[in-house]
Amino acid sequence: MRPEKYIKNYINGAFVPAESGEYFDNYNPATGQVYSHIPDSDERDVAKAVEAAKKAFPGWAKMATDKRFRILMRVADIIEQNLEAFARAESIDSGKPMAMSSTVDIPRSQSNFRFFATAIMHFSSESHHIAGEAINFTLRQPLGVVGCISPWNLPLYLFSWKIAPALATGNCVVAKPSELTPMTAFMLGQACAEAGLPPGVLNIVQGLGPKAGQAIVDHDDVKAISFTGGTATGRRILQTTSQTFKKASLELGGKNPNLIFADCDFDQMMVDTIRSSFSNNGQICLCGSRLYIQRPIYDKFKEEFVKRVQFLKVGDPFSSVTDLGALVSKAHMEKVMGYIALAEVEGGTVLCGGKPVDVPGEYEQGYFLRPTVIEGLNNECRTNQEEIFGPVVTIQPFDTEEEAIALANGVKYGLASTVWTQDISRANRVAEQLQAGIVWVNCWMLRDLRTPFGGVKESGMGREGGLEALRFFTEPKNVCIKY
Ligand code: NAD
Repeated sequence: MRPEKYIKNYINGAFVPAESGEYFDNYNPATGQVYSHIPDSDERDVAKAVEAAKKAFPGWAKMATDKRFRILMRVADIIEQNLEAFARAESIDSGKPMAMSSTVDIPRSQSNFRFFATAIMHFSSESHHIAGEAINFTLRQPLGVVGCISPWNLPLYLFSWKIAPALATGNCVVAKPSELTPMTAFMLGQACAEAGLPPGVLNIVQGLGPKAGQAIVDHDDVKAISFTGGTATGRRILQTTSQTFKKASLELGGKNPNLIFADCDFDQMMVDTIRSSFSNNGQICLCGSRLYIQRPIYDKFKEEFVKRVQFLKVGDPFSSVTDLGALVSKAHMEKVMGYIALAEVEGGTVLCGGKPVDVPGEYEQGYFLRPTVIEGLNNECRTNQEEIFGPVVTIQPFDTEEEAIALANGVKYGLASTVWTQDISRANRVAEQLQAGIVWVNCWMLRDLRTPFGGVKESGMGREGGLEALRFFTEPKNVCIKY
């Protein structure tokens, strides 16, 4: 698998330029330099991709399950054999440390293919017997051509999280990665071709969201959209899909709370809270960005947390000692810095960070920011209400359990929450009342791919993961036979 300077679309098993013949620039965020070019696709490329997918669908849907299983397992094997190349490409494209792309992003992308390849071998449907009269059974059939659209923060990880279950259930796919991180999706096309995936089963259209992405959502023959990205984009997609009754699964933004009670295991909490705040530069939808600490340990927490955050190393994504690489783009860096400035206007105190980092040499034009901790803000201010999606957290004290729950729930989002306490009854009480799709108790980002994954309120609609994904990508049809 190899990156190329001029990235191509992958349509009907071939690597082709966009119909427009145009490309736009792809930046390496650690150097701030253009290093490759992305096809500027539009509705013509999407139409070609949908045609190829429609043609491939009958054969793929009817293929014996164990044959589909073998092909998807081969895709996983090829990613694994090329882990170094994929991880390097992911880090160049996104700015994240190679230490992360090689241990998290790419291993998880292989797991996604393995998990859903094996899951389909065990997927079954229900039957309902009317005693002495009839039997109902449920057919679970693939939808046809489906669209998968993913963001830049965990590029191949989230792209494959959608594509693998869609393919495993017998659908053909038109997929679009983020225009900020196109390279590993392009390489996935190479892996699929090598694995023997029949032409047209997976088509990867590169390009801009409002142009190529919207064309996938708009296309009449695309039966479902699986989308991960920002809430504003999700709202726009839902407006379109609601007009045509297309199935939609929307995994959107978050503003996740960490509730840290005084009785927690302080040392473990501290290690995991550093991770949940600043992994991938805070650019994980599951990162906790609002830290609520019970008053008796607030000062101790603040002192220790700030001290450790100041030790985090920011810089060269390819150095083994780097904790935080570059932010994904100049525009995103400016957005995050805008929020830090806003926090100060809103009365917040920056306890550490808040400034860009000068990394000398080839990285001096890169988008590096110091991890930032802010205190002194109320829950209603924009800094605590809006998703920043960068290396920025706020800390606030609380007194009672009820107050902590009210603070945690006091935003429009509801994706993930983290609770730190040694009191098992409290953990259960709080988990029950938190408005979130995922609650972690005494851990963070411990993932079991069988569990439902998704958010409530403006964090999304529908669930991914395990059986939920297999159900989303199939249409249940009840057959009733009287005897
Ligand atoms: P984004 O919404 O800007 O883009 C996501 C994808 O949608 C990209 O591929 C983009 O090209 C495409 N797109 C943009 N406009 C479109 C349109 N009109 N029609 C179709 N496609 C369109 O999001 P982003 O900036 O790439 O990602 C960051 C966001 O993703 C954050 O809000 C983050 O919380 C969220 N996110 C959520 C989850 C989750 O599981 N809930 C996971 C990761 C990221």
